[in-house]
Amino acid sequence: MARSWLDIDPSSDFSLANIPFGIIDTPEDVTRHVGVAIGSYVLDLKELAHRIGANNLLPFGAHSTPGVFETRTLNAFAKLGRSVHRHVRERIQDLLSENTSCPHLLRDNAELREKVLWPQHRVRMFLPMDIGDYTDFYAGYHHAYAVGVMFRGPANALQPNYTHLPVGYHGRASSIVVSGTPVRRPVGQILLDPKAEPKQPTVAPSRKLDIELELGCFITKSNDLGHPVSIDEAEKHVFGYVLLNDWSARDIQTWEYVPLGPFNGKNFTTTISPWVVLADALEPFKTKGIENPTPLQDYLKEKREETVFDIQLEVDLTTPDGNTTTITKTNGKNLMWSFPQMIAHHTLGGCPLRKGDLLGSGTISGPVPEESGSLLELSEGGKRVIQLNGGEGRTFLKDGDTVTFRGFCVGKEGERVGFGECTGRVEGA
Ligand code: MN
Repeated sequence: MARSWLDIDPSSDFSLANIPFGIIDTPEDVTRHVGVAIGSYVLDLKELAHRIGANNLLPFGAHSTPGVFETRTLNAFAKLGRSVHRHVRERIQDLLSENTSCPHLLRDNAELREKVLWPQHRVRMFLPMDIGDYTDFYAGYHHAYAVGVMFRGPANALQPNYTHLPVGYHGRASSIVVSGTPVRRPVGQILLDPKAEPKQPTVAPSRKLDIELELGCFITKSNDLGHPVSIDEAEKHVFGYVLLNDWSARDIQTWEYVPLGPFNGKNFTTTISPWVVLADALEPFKTKGIENPTPLQDYLKEKREETVFDIQLEVDLTTPDGNTTTITKTNGKNLMWSFPQMIAHHTLGGCPLRKGDLLGSGTISGPVPEESGSLLELSEGGKRVIQLNGGEGRTFLKDGDTVTFRGFCVGKEGERVGFGECTGRVEGA
């Protein structure tokens, strides 16, 4: 792996091997536009394209879209397709490399470096995509199993459909926010006494506010109504990935979810990390997922075995006093279904997925309780107190708590390809 002429800390998620894309504004340009993260800096692509010419970044043929780095979301860039993303990422990697083929353009141009490289703390980040639709899956096998045991016992933990299809539900794109946005505790219908007959719900702030540690996948290529995406073509429809916190109100969810699935228990807020890690950047970290013993339908059969990602995932909980505890560590490979399988299944009946749509993986938990991606599992349904640094304990979230997800892959030479943070602080209802 080439080295950069920029000083990049080895522990940075944003090594030269990464080059994730996001939407920024800067002290000099408060109109939202495109940037990439590199080490502790942000490279302003709008300003760079303006100074060196967009044709120095875009491949021949894509020159007709020079404004692609000036737009308020990444949708226009996503639309150009994976071969263009690959070209632009490689071009930026070259410009930032020690042995760049064009040293005069940026490396040896101090005046330009001053204009286009910003320390990350001086840049504001926004929602990276205009998200049309959001679908949340349930591909985290260990999560599905653990929660199933809690509600139905080990014999019926998984529904009979679980190993035959990637289970999912249609979520709300309207409540997706970028990392750092406060999360208001939702009010909803809750059954305070589940044993009382007749059942009598109360409308109140959720008492069981939870997190779900997920990976999000952005779609880059649309399929037409009535035209399913085949499993072999599905990878071409992926733009890139983010960390996703599918905040969940378990008490609201428990009462409402039969028979049509989650509703108010999930639709109040979903937080995503601001940097979209391109599909190509994660490609070297593909690995085997959880083996599925069930013979698959043809439309779900993949040619290769490495279909999920070896991503180290961590969750921190910071109390209002400022004490931080890492409450779980797990890995992105703990999925039974891959995103290409989710895409093939989503479109099987002809449903169009459109550029900018977001798919959630489902909660990612490891095989042991300490590797759980939700408080529901970590607290065994609220029965066990999770001990935090500073002496406090939690079953579910309190007002003023901050939850931060981190995720990164480590390459063969130690280079990190990561997401940065996906964080949110809980505000009172
Ligand atoms: Mn979820």
